[in-house]
Formats: sequence, C-alpha cells, structure tokens
Amino acid sequence: MSKHIRIHILHCGYMQVSPAVPFGDSISLKNSARQIFARERVTLPVSAYLIEHPDGLILVDTGWCRDISPNGVYDPKAVEKVLPKHLAKLYQPYVPEGMAIHEQLAARGLKPGDIDILLLTHFDPDHVAGLRHVTDARRILVPEDEYFWNCRLVYQARQPKALFEGVAMERFFYRGSDMGTNRWAYDLMGDQTIFCINIPGHTDGMCAVLVQNGELLEHKRKFALLASDAAYCRRNWEEGITPGLGFHRELQVKGLDWLKAQAAMPSCVEVIANHDPDVRPHTIEITAPQEQQ
Ligand SMILES: [Zn+2]
Repeated sequence: MSKHIRIHILHCGYMQVSPAVPFGDSISLKNSARQIFARERVTLPVSAYLIEHPDGLILVDTGWCRDISPNGVYDPKAVEKVLPKHLAKLYQPYVPEGMAIHEQLAARGLKPGDIDILLLTHFDPDHVAGLRHVTDARRILVPEDEYFWNCRLVYQARQPKALFEGVAMERFFYRGSDMGTNRWAYDLMGDQTIFCINIPGHTDGMCAVLVQNGELLEHKRKFALLASDAAYCRRNWEEGITPGLGFHRELQVKGLDWLKAQAAMPSCVEVIANHDPDVRPHTIEITAPQEQQ
C-alpha cells in the first residue's frame, strides 16, 4: 500500500572543520589531533530532517543549539560554554539567525510538542546539541546500541553527555534485516515505510534512515536514504574516500559501498549525507509511481 511521505531537509547551522574531517581517509590519534588544530577549514552544513508521514510528524536529529551562537555568528566563547575545548576547536560551529531547529519549526507554524517522534541517529554533538530545544517532542528515540556503547572511552571524548543526559528517551533494538552493512534495522512506524538501519563505522550504533513508499515490488518502490554520517558528502561514496572522524575504517568502507549500491538503484530518489555542502535545503516527495506521472 503506497503512502505519500514528504522529507524536508533542514540546515541547522554549520561546522568549520579541517578537510580531514570529511575526507581524512584514516582514523588515528595523529589524524584526530590534526583535525582539531588544523588551520585550513571547510564550512559544512549540519542537517536535520522533518518527515511528514500519514501517521505522524518525525524529526531526525537536531543540529546545533542557539546557545552555541547567540548572535548568529561564530563565537568561540559561547561554543566553549556548550562543548569541551577540544570539540569546540574541532567543530568551530555557528548558527545563523532562524536556523536553530526550534526557530525553523516555528517558521513552519510548529511547536516541539507537535513532533510525534524525534529520532537521534547517534550522539555526536552536531546531531544532539539542539535536543534542548525540542525535548517536548512526544517520543524521543535512540538506537540501543548507540546508547549502550556511549560508555566506550572513544565516545566519552566525542559525545559530551551533558547534551543529552537527563532527557527521557526510548531505546529501540535493531532486528535482523536484509538492509544495511550489519543486517540490522528497525521499522519505525511499523508499516515498512521508515527503517532505521544500523551502519557502524562512524559510531557503533548509528542509524541511517530509509524512507520509502511502502511498495514491496521493486518496480513500484521509491525510496530516499538519509545517510547520517555514514558519509559526510556524496564524494565519500563516489570516490571511496572515508571520513576522518569515525571509529573503524573498514566498517566505514563497507558503509560507503552500501550507500553507493543504494544510490545506483532505479527506485532510489536520493541518498543524502548529513554534511554535504552541495545538498541545499529542499523537500523530497516519496510517492507511488502512478502519482508521479
Ligand atoms: Zn555529524
């Protein structure tokens, strides 16, 4: 049964990072240090996605918070009030006026309480800093594997707990699936239209989000894939370059290969990496094939 679903791609601020963050092609302590102290910087957007589904409104990730950039410009002192010093230097974030998630919802006539499900793909700060603005969402979900593995030392340096601790959230378990590199997915709405698909490599538990029209026959199916940080930019899977921020390069390579295969499928409308500067805010319509004529 086909469903009409709309995905709005929102940019909730920017990060000014070393080119080694999106295109580092290796993960090591030396490379991490280089990313923090680099002089050369590229400006990348930080995305969130608002999904209009017939059974509810879903927000995927939250971008940066307003507190990090009170006047809409890069403000190192304000950033250090939200992030520890090494992450403040790594990300150098800013949020132009009107771009924080609650500001964008308000511009659409929405309140955080109108969101039925807020899904956090993983706990890195560029995805959860804005959580403070939308804690009134009816349900907040995170993959159990992301929540649990946050205890690892590597994540304690990457994912400041203060950004999400104390917020009531539900943890969902992935189930066996034919999707993704780990063959684990979670059917978010229970109708096979939105799957949270585990793609480890950037973190252990991170999910990409596949949105489809619910048609099981391949020639009728249409889908879009929100890759989260399995890739930073399209170039990662097109040229096979792994991002420099992650925990396991071989798993990142597998993730990129899977994204590339998905992007090549005729039923694929778009594959979207979270931090791709070539992806402008726009709306993707997922419809039944007959509706598109
Ligand atoms: Zn990210």
